[in-house]
Amino acid sequence: MSNGPAALSPTPEQDEFNPFLSMAQLFNRAADILDLDEGLREVLRRPDRELTVALPVIMDDGSTKVFTGYRVQHNFLRGPCKGGIRFAPDVNLDEVRALSAWMTWKCSVVDVPFGGGKGGVICDPRDLSTRELESITRRYTAAIMDILGPNRDVPAPDVNTNEQTMAWIMDTYSMHVRSTTTAVVTGKPISIGGSRGRREATGRGVMLCCREAMKKLGRRPENTRVVVQGSGNVGGIGALLLYREGYKITSLSDMYGAIHNEQGLDVPEVLEYLRVNRRLEGYDGADHIKNAEQLFLDCEVLIPAATENQITSKNALRIKARLIVEGANGPTTAAAQDILDTMGVVVVPDILANAGGVTVSYFEWVQDRMGYFWTEDVVNTRLEQIMVKAFDDVNETAKKYGETMRTASYILAIERVATVYRMRGIFS
Ligand code: NAD
Repeated sequence: MSNGPAALSPTPEQDEFNPFLSMAQLFNRAADILDLDEGLREVLRRPDRELTVALPVIMDDGSTKVFTGYRVQHNFLRGPCKGGIRFAPDVNLDEVRALSAWMTWKCSVVDVPFGGGKGGVICDPRDLSTRELESITRRYTAAIMDILGPNRDVPAPDVNTNEQTMAWIMDTYSMHVRSTTTAVVTGKPISIGGSRGRREATGRGVMLCCREAMKKLGRRPENTRVVVQGSGNVGGIGALLLYREGYKITSLSDMYGAIHNEQGLDVPEVLEYLRVNRRLEGYDGADHIKNAEQLFLDCEVLIPAATENQITSKNALRIKARLIVEGANGPTTAAAQDILDTMGVVVVPDILANAGGVTVSYFEWVQDRMGYFWTEDVVNTRLEQIMVKAFDDVNETAKKYGETMRTASYILAIERVATVYRMRGIFS
């Protein structure tokens, strides 16, 4: 596995945390290596379509409030756009653009027939009742209706949206087209067309990437200490699956703090404690440490699976892990990646490591369109085949170009999209 040279130029501090700039930097670097012509770069740099919508909603107190929503479709050359919808106060067009492009590259890396999309509504779900959230979701769906559909754009859950949100979107879309259309969203409850194995898929993909990277590095799970940041869908399930594979999970965290036990945590017990108490605070099978210290614990593997911009130019030098498998989107800044490269740390990048979720979303879409549902074993076996192949493809690309796995994943993704462009030609 090549770890490649430090190649991205130093990032000015003010730009380090901007997801759009960070994605653009990775894109430019890969495009330079591929010697992509300027016209094609321009096509792939710009989202195909950006929609901003105003969403009037009647609040519980009888007042009317107008929310702003976005849906960005970065590219639909390889198939319908695919990507989550987030509800958060800090949603903005730049972020949605970057995330939609990330989805194009992620779908391409695992070679599922989708382009990239992303959406969001500026709102704070903590201040909203369930009825208000349902109204926002339905109005948002109706507002972006013309660009949605199983053959056009297929959303999924993201920050602060969940299975219930997807059920409301599916219902609203279906009422408008006068036909139950389960394939318009993924991440739905199993009872209305969701896929078995979807909930665990991202964590399973992280586990599989960790396994493959360990093989290449000649390491075995026994006595491998793993630190996992976050204990939600990705971190919690990823930690549990790694624990079952024989790894020693020495630390887990949530947004309030981290726990640490050098002998290894009893992960099922920790997750049960978390389910009951909703936070790790008070768990007595481990020491409690600050979140800020967790990333620098002595360990062989670090899995950032909480949020973006965690490993930065300010703290990268303190990382002790030799292997980082990115469960979260964008947990490592481009400047930090440069530092990790010089330290010889191998990073399995987010667009590969957390692509298990979108892969099983693809399975959900396929099952909905067939009207025939697979067993969990079938889902897991097919997920493993895709993840292992994607890992090998990225690894081969890294070797071929002498680059990091991160740069290699972009080279592979852009090359696949560019090939389709060349074959289809430009319609004008
Ligand atoms: P989640 O809400 O289920 O869990 C997030 C976890 O991170 C929680 O335990 C939370 O307490 C913790 N956390 C938040 N901020 C933290 C901090 N500063 N320090 C330590 N812990 C912190 O979310 P999730 O679905 O697990 O998503 C996590 C990341 O993975 C996000 O970046 C998301 O975009 C990405 N991702 C998720 C999926 C998926 O299928 N769920 C797929 C691809 C990527």
